[in-house]
Amino acid sequence: MKPDLSFTRREFIQTAAMAGAFATLGSSRMAAVGVNSAGAEPPQPAWVDRSMRWAQLTLVEDDPGKFDLQFWLDYFQRTRSDAACLSAGGCVAFYPTKIPFHHRSAWLANLDPFGDLVAGCRRLGMTVLARTDPHATYDDVQQAHPDWIAVDANGNPRRHGASPEMWLTCCLGPYNFEFMTEVTKEITSLYKIDGIFINRWEGSGMCYCEHCQKNFKEATGFALPRSNDPQDPARRAYILWRQQRLFDLWRLWDTEVRKINPAARVIPNTGGGAGSSLDMRAIGELAPTLMADRQARSGLAAPWANGKNGKEFRATMGRKPIIGIFSVGVEEPYRWKDSVQSEAEIRLWVADGIANDLRPWFTKFSGVLRDERWLAVVEDIYRRHARWEKYLRNESPMARVGLVYSQQTATFYTGERSTARLEDHTLGWYQALIESRLPFEMVHDRLLDAAHVDQFKTLILPNIAALSDAQCQQLRDFVARGGSIVATHETSLYDEWGVRRKDFGLADLFGVSVSGPVEGPMHNAYLRLEHDTARGHPLLKGLEDAPRIIHGVWRLGVTAKEKFPNPPVTFIPSYPDLPMEKVYPRGPKTDIPEVYLREQGPGRVIYFPWDIDRTFWEVLSLDHLKLLRNAVEWATNEEPAVRVTGPGVLDVTVWRQRESMTVHLVNLSNPMMMKGPLRELIPIGEQKVRVQLPAGRQAKRTQLLAAGVTPQFRADGPYLEIVVPSVLDHEVVAIDL
Ligand SMILES: [Zn+2]
Repeated sequence: MKPDLSFTRREFIQTAAMAGAFATLGSSRMAAVGVNSAGAEPPQPAWVDRSMRWAQLTLVEDDPGKFDLQFWLDYFQRTRSDAACLSAGGCVAFYPTKIPFHHRSAWLANLDPFGDLVAGCRRLGMTVLARTDPHATYDDVQQAHPDWIAVDANGNPRRHGASPEMWLTCCLGPYNFEFMTEVTKEITSLYKIDGIFINRWEGSGMCYCEHCQKNFKEATGFALPRSNDPQDPARRAYILWRQQRLFDLWRLWDTEVRKINPAARVIPNTGGGAGSSLDMRAIGELAPTLMADRQARSGLAAPWANGKNGKEFRATMGRKPIIGIFSVGVEEPYRWKDSVQSEAEIRLWVADGIANDLRPWFTKFSGVLRDERWLAVVEDIYRRHARWEKYLRNESPMARVGLVYSQQTATFYTGERSTARLEDHTLGWYQALIESRLPFEMVHDRLLDAAHVDQFKTLILPNIAALSDAQCQQLRDFVARGGSIVATHETSLYDEWGVRRKDFGLADLFGVSVSGPVEGPMHNAYLRLEHDTARGHPLLKGLEDAPRIIHGVWRLGVTAKEKFPNPPVTFIPSYPDLPMEKVYPRGPKTDIPEVYLREQGPGRVIYFPWDIDRTFWEVLSLDHLKLLRNAVEWATNEEPAVRVTGPGVLDVTVWRQRESMTVHLVNLSNPMMMKGPLRELIPIGEQKVRVQLPAGRQAKRTQLLAAGVTPQFRADGPYLEIVVPSVLDHEVVAIDL
């Protein structure tokens, strides 16, 4: 459905002014969410940066009087944990609350297990956050305050799926705004905590309660939407309004907590990548620190997914500390919450987070343990982290490549391929960059200004379809300043609301215009590598012996707006794949380029009209990997910050600390790399590391932190070369400057 543009504009102004939308303009949005311009925020409390290793104990209702307090305090000490997150209230109060309808644990009696844990952690010098969870409540609440309960589209109050004696609460109405505010204030007043960590505060899907109906109508003029189509004006308004309500709620809680303790903060459990429903840029401005709650891999997740979360959070959090929550259990849809994962799986998952600057946070449900196998594993990881701490206080990443992600594309782009999983383009690039051992960061598409992107030489746009005119201009400016761009498929073909343009917003940068629909799924199509006319072209590196390689699956029709002489890669259209007698190419060779390369002064631009990144994620063709790698290397056109040569698959990151720098090597080489859980860690052989030192600095000393040795190094101008004999899970080359 094509939206009515006159309406769109009116609604844009209306909703842009009120919401922290993905696509609204900076000043109005920031005023709306109450965030001052950068630098005007008060300094963060000291606990934010001090806390390096987090321990979360989520009590269960029957823990009071049963769980062994001293056991946990001893464990926190043994693990060198310096920060704790402890169950306080919400669904179940673990302290003697006086707030009506705040359900005390049925086992609480005259105990105060939360208070005892807080006191114990304080004796250990730990930071303490109280954990609350507002997402569910009981019959007495439902009877006294039926309007606090979430309502489904048919008008029925919603029972809790897993605990059917409970009710789901409305997150946007008085239950959160009034009742949970009182809970938050009571906990902060009674216990000298550093902050509140609020779990499951964003509701459990769409709510049609009387408050949501009334408040939404008043704010936008619409009835609550019944369709999920982001092009439906009511749905679009709802997407923005919901965000505004949640940011209002966050600010309310935070303000009330600060009135009681100025150094305390409210940190909701929120955020993520492109699929996150709250604007990460606004979150990055509001949160003093943030927890990436990706507890383990499941399904076909790759082991680098934890590091990816770190990169996504850092894109908008900047230098504020980010924390990676990991569980010790099997994380699959069947939710074995009391389970214990394999040691190797836990180790690799946490290592990849640490290599990507996530401070570790283990989370355990139940004070009474039913399986203790994880205890020694986490203790070992944490003690190693404590030994390495000096080299884990990173100042900045030294990566020169940025992989852009776009919440507005994920939210508003439906395009002709609405069924395709948008994230697959990003995952393809992520895998290709990992296999290429190229250090990279992720970049939020609403932070494309010079201050956020000029640390990079190259920005990759993996089918970032929805971009505003202003964002396109920022990308043009980036290239004008000498930056390079690698873009794929429908990048910039839609505006920030997912409305298709006549042509790419970046048509001038690409040098091509759109001229046809998306074709596909293509079967049996190929790419001809033009060695005769483009011999030695950097894009064909490693493919010198290949006359042709497989094509992708989806291809956008485009026409060059200028000459692209001697294209290195041309189109071989699909031809029948059955019967076998009919499998031969029809027609002579085409001159249609399937990749467009341009030099713009020192900047370079590469555009692939087809889904090379998405196909790579699906098929993992080595030939596509080479094209992707060659594209980034050609665009970047400089020595990478670090080059690591040797066998295996490594996640390579490179960091600057105040008086040192580090290269992290996380060994992902494992038969269970693409489908966990790992059975064992398998060491890989010798890696040669060649790293560029910061200008004007020399290496005073090098160490391999995991091996515990001080190896020889060789200086070569601004480069330092060092040999790492082996990597089991995680090695850190630490260089004192
Ligand atoms: Zn509601």
